[in-house]
Amino acid sequence: MSISENVASIRARIRAAAEAAGRDPGEITLLAATKMNDAERVREAIAAGVDACGENRVQELVQKKPLGAYEGKPLHFIGHLQLNKVNKVVGAVDVIQSVDRMELLEAVSQAAQRRGICQKILLEINIGGEEQKSGFTPEQALELASHMGDYPGVSLQGLMAIPPISEKKGDNCKYFEKMRNLFVDIQEKKYDNVSMVCLSMGMTDDFEDAIAEGSTMIRVGTAIFGARNYNKS
Ligand SMILES: *Cc1c(COP(=O)(O)O)cnc(C)c1O
Repeated sequence: MSISENVASIRARIRAAAEAAGRDPGEITLLAATKMNDAERVREAIAAGVDACGENRVQELVQKKPLGAYEGKPLHFIGHLQLNKVNKVVGAVDVIQSVDRMELLEAVSQAAQRRGICQKILLEINIGGEEQKSGFTPEQALELASHMGDYPGVSLQGLMAIPPISEKKGDNCKYFEKMRNLFVDIQEKKYDNVSMVCLSMGMTDDFEDAIAEGSTMIRVGTAIFGARNYNKS
């Protein structure tokens, strides 16, 4: 299957999942998770109609961007971001989805202020409470959202989560539901410097469940590009 056939088939699945949940398919954005795919394949995904691109590694981002990989679509950063690479990402992407700890939030806000820009961000939530994963707890995120006025370099646009690896279909519904509840809780508070417009959850194996639970952005890699070859280079 070609990338464009894959994207068409994902669009059909998005439509079906949205309609089954009584939602408008137009509310759901398809982000291509482009890690380990070269600039040409990323452009192919854009030509096939994905809405945005998401890159995991700073090194890949700085290699592909000058090649015009993301041209015409918003670029998001979705991977773990080290503090010493913050300057390469702030202002170079539309949204940093993976703000997963206080030090990073502070560093991103300061870097953006130095440049005189406002960086859109999402807070990454460790929704499964997994020890080895970074991310805020729901309680921390709720508290932090009330203080977003203290971080003038950023604008909080929503939440992102990567739930635990599931054993079987449907296992992640409970995490997606918790995410939606947190999203709505923060949205209703109408805090300063917070505009909850993006709930980023759902990947190749579970995006239909995420849509059923209220996702507004799914991040899909494998179903667009095929399996990644981690042995290559
Ligand atoms: C790789 C990746 C995805 C996409 O995963 P697939 O299972 O290949 O669809 C989504 N989100 C993040 C943060 C990723 O790193």
